[in-house]
Amino acid sequence: MIKNYLHLNQLVTLKSAHEKDGRFLVPSDLDIIEDGAIVFDEEKIIWVGKTSNLPSEYLAHMTYNLSGFVLTPEIVDSHTHLIFGGDRSQEYVDRLNGTPYEEIAKRGGGILFTMKETLSLSSEELFCLGVKRVERINSYGVGTIEVKSGYGLSYAKEKELTLIIDRLKKHFSPKIQISNTYLAAHDIPRSFSSPTAYMNEVVIPLLEELASLKIIDAVDIFHEKNYFTSENCIQLFSKAQDLGIPRKIHADELNDNSGAKLAADFGCLSADHLLKISDEGIKILSTSKTVATLLPGTAFFLGKPLAPARKMLDAGVKVALASDYNPGSCHCDNILLVASIAAAQLKLNQTELWCGITHNAAHSLGKLDQGVLLPGMKSRFSLFQTNSLSQITYNWGKNFSVNLP
Ligand SMILES: [Zn+2]
Repeated sequence: MIKNYLHLNQLVTLKSAHEKDGRFLVPSDLDIIEDGAIVFDEEKIIWVGKTSNLPSEYLAHMTYNLSGFVLTPEIVDSHTHLIFGGDRSQEYVDRLNGTPYEEIAKRGGGILFTMKETLSLSSEELFCLGVKRVERINSYGVGTIEVKSGYGLSYAKEKELTLIIDRLKKHFSPKIQISNTYLAAHDIPRSFSSPTAYMNEVVIPLLEELASLKIIDAVDIFHEKNYFTSENCIQLFSKAQDLGIPRKIHADELNDNSGAKLAADFGCLSADHLLKISDEGIKILSTSKTVATLLPGTAFFLGKPLAPARKMLDAGVKVALASDYNPGSCHCDNILLVASIAAAQLKLNQTELWCGITHNAAHSLGKLDQGVLLPGMKSRFSLFQTNSLSQITYNWGKNFSVNLP
């Protein structure tokens, strides 16, 4: 069914940002149409422009007067770990009270604690938690959400988590798009002698099994000192390439260990975190298609310095922002709030902020047909009850999002 939205106070198209592939953005690249109109069907955008220029042939279709609203390309949260059991509030308080992370880990804290809590829940319980979490994220205006597995850390439980994410995907489609990322290589369970043993016994064989079901949208790996090595990444990425599955990487967060280069070498959709990225890494990403996904909420919450965003943007790196919603290092599921706070800290202009949570975030999931309001692109938008785009992030933490009519 064809619909018209007319008289939008602002229609934020991001047309120029899209033409520039989301790089070297200036404020005018938002390409805002005042008193805007958009015509679309379930699949695609048909026409975009000023309401006064709407061709009369479209007036026969279902028409909504949206004076008092702003429409943007759909907000995307491209990095979440939302399938988990329990919480880590005790660990958070211990950290505030001065307990070093090594001590917390020795007591069985960290990812392995969440693994234990996740193991104690049934598939149905994890699915129901997932539904609630996806609905809450969607209530902020986020319509595409990436969800990673990674708190199962055994063949059986990781398989179960990927199947739960697939069930969520089917449950919410098409209103909410879910991207299913396979992150069995999130941590190394104590029962394995080395990361390589875990790769060979769990990560690779399970990937082969799940690939045949065609439910994985990307693989991911935690490439850090004391976690997975470059060799482990190469093994996973080569296998994923053979199977035709896109790749992502948790890179250069705790140390610079050339994760950005690995990402570019294997044509990864994104390299995520990058707090410690080197100048060489920035140079490599600037000439690659790999999106640099920054997760400022995590650095805030851990009290760490943020990623060198301005340096990356000025070099021409394609930057996205995501929440990293997870029970340990960032228990915040609101990417719009994170981006509102982070913009000044990361020295982003308004286009970089919005392009980072829409267009570039969609590209970091391989979704190249959304993130810009142009004819032929997917009909995926976010609608806000306010008279200007500026109000949305200026009033940080206030929710202006409303359901699409
Ligand atoms: Zn993560």
